[in-house]
Amino acid sequence: MVEHKYDVVIVGARVAGASLAILLGKQGKKVLLIDKATFPSDTLSTHHLSHTQYLKALGVLERVESKGLRRLERMRTYIGNSFIEGPKSEYSLAPRRNHLDSILVEKACEYKSVTLYENTKLKRVIVEEGKVKGVQIQRGQEDSQNVLADLVVGADGVHSRVAKLVEAEAYKEQDPIRPVFYGYYEGIEPLPEPATEIFLNEGRIGFLFPMESNVDWNIGEGEDWEQEMEGFHTKRDEKMLPAYRLTLEYIQRLQPYSREHLALFNALCANPIALSKLTPHLPNMLKDVSHNIPELYGSIEMEAEALHKK
Ligand SMILES: Cc1cc2nc3c(=O)[nH]c(=O)nc-3n(C[C@H](O)[C@H](O)[C@H](O)COP(=O)(O)OP(=O)(O)OC[C@H]3O[C@@H](n4cnc5c(N)ncnc54)[C@H](O)[C@@H]3O)c2cc1C
Repeated sequence: MVEHKYDVVIVGARVAGASLAILLGKQGKKVLLIDKATFPSDTLSTHHLSHTQYLKALGVLERVESKGLRRLERMRTYIGNSFIEGPKSEYSLAPRRNHLDSILVEKACEYKSVTLYENTKLKRVIVEEGKVKGVQIQRGQEDSQNVLADLVVGADGVHSRVAKLVEAEAYKEQDPIRPVFYGYYEGIEPLPEPATEIFLNEGRIGFLFPMESNVDWNIGEGEDWEQEMEGFHTKRDEKMLPAYRLTLEYIQRLQPYSREHLALFNALCANPIALSKLTPHLPNMLKDVSHNIPELYGSIEMEAEALHKK
């Protein structure tokens, strides 16, 4: 059996895998990026991307936007018959995944040290003396081949086979809370200034993400691998867990507003003088009520700070 040697093999070539391949390609690392899909390829997602600065850092923002995507610079939230709206600290985009993922894959392949194998399945992980040494893959209908690597990365999604094969520990898991229905719609009259829209009604939630106008981490391969990975793990959790907890809180607490709350909200939205008198008290009020969900206040404070600097 032919064996090849890479610095890194990445299983899964979408937003996680292809982005990592770009960062490693920049460092001149010899990377093999594999995916069972062939690009362009679609996947389940509603496409709303808030952190466009990462696309810029990867050098693909312009290409992603070249498709005529609307920049979503505002957020509008409807509660019952009223809505509140404001600018976001940073614009969002809603690119289709077949568009976004292909651009990332294309960018990764611009680096000579990155090789892409599409239509290629991970069969098993090669383990020697308790350490992962590579992977066995199958390209199309060809015979399986072994690929050796200093590092194997599982970027193969929520049901990661790599994670299963290496018996990675799962933590902070959450059973599904509610079903989601979604689709593409044409002919919806856009708002004059494109906005992410959120609809809260009777304990349910809906989103509208306008699309086109018509329809560092550094990898360390040094001796301190354990320490390096522990550092990454901590850093990743610090960054990701607040948003994860916030989303769970949001969904778990979603319930119909009382008639009194709705009436109060409607009256405030219809009365800018009352709203302007209330606004100066909001920071203290929010701080008081958000003590059991500090992420909520924290995220609002961060947005406010970013908007203040704008
Ligand atoms: C309904 C829905 C709506 C969402 N909406 C949004 C949103 O609006 N905004 C947002 O930011 N996120 C959204 N997400 C989340 C987003 O889709 C995921 O976070 C993102 O796709 C994860 O990217 P990834 O690269 O880690 O994995 P994935 O996108 O899952 O890609 C994994 C890749 O690994 C490949 N693969 C898997 N197994 C193997 C194997 N054995 N061999 C070879 N290749 C393999 C697959 O073919 C696939 O291409 C949504 C998710 C869902 C389900």
